[in-house]
Amino acid sequence: MAAPLPRPRKRLGQHFLVDQNIVRKILDLAAVRHDETVLEIGPGRGALTGPLCDRAERVIGIEVDADLYRHLHETLSDRPTLDLRLGDALAFPFNTLPEGTVVVANLPYYLSTPLLFALLEARERLSRLVVMLQTEVARRIVAGPGNADYGVLSVLLQCWTIPKLAFRVSPTCFRPQPDVGSSVLSLRIRSEPAAPIADTKLFTRVVRAAFAHRRKTVSNSLRDEGFGQGSVQAGLAQARVAPGRRAETLSIVEFAALAEALAARTEPPGNSV
Ligand code: SAM
Repeated sequence: MAAPLPRPRKRLGQHFLVDQNIVRKILDLAAVRHDETVLEIGPGRGALTGPLCDRAERVIGIEVDADLYRHLHETLSDRPTLDLRLGDALAFPFNTLPEGTVVVANLPYYLSTPLLFALLEARERLSRLVVMLQTEVARRIVAGPGNADYGVLSVLLQCWTIPKLAFRVSPTCFRPQPDVGSSVLSLRIRSEPAAPIADTKLFTRVVRAAFAHRRKTVSNSLRDEGFGQGSVQAGLAQARVAPGRRAETLSIVEFAALAEALAARTEPPGNSV
């Protein structure tokens, strides 16, 4: 006899998908082919895992909850395509995934942002992502300049992927129901970034620094985050960005130009010119 289902653990963001219509919509959106590898973060009780195993060449599922891991092992033991791992997805070496891996996941919401950044680091291994997130985070990812939701997440994800809000999912589609709204997002990895970027680390540092103080101008924000005053002034002028502008008005192309202009002038954080 099958063991009883483990009780949901709130601290692990466990809200299990129980609506088969949403499962179907996610599978249609992911459109996984028989020769593709899928990475599923947090397979949970397996709502997506079983159908994914029927479609993909291999499904790597990383589950942190040992009880769920055992449960999945038991219920999906007849699926030779399943490669189930017990552990923290944040510690998983995403850069060892086979090239072209498709990420399909109903992410644990408490970890969705760090997981997306970790996946972004391994973008060369991925072809696309279909992820369920809290709607508030999904909105931030797709927001454009001038929008109150536009920030670090928007710039970095839009720089390397093409994100699209696919559909909303009501809390009634989960057990237990989450307190927040959910949305499914597809993100296709770009073959080239949205703007030319020579130094990814510096670009990321500039974007994070510019948004670190949302009420300040980009010029003051960069200075407060350790870029020298002279470098900032000259960099903004070269990138044709007016020093009085705020980060939320800059496009990805402008951030890229600013990072490039600062590249030749940047001192280690903390040194002022
Ligand atoms: N995929 C299932 C579904 O759609 O019903 C479960 C989704 S539930 C929102 C999130 C899942 O992520 C849970 O199974 C939870 O245990 C798992 N999880 C939470 N933190 C994790 C982590 N750090 N690494 C891997 N899995 C994690």
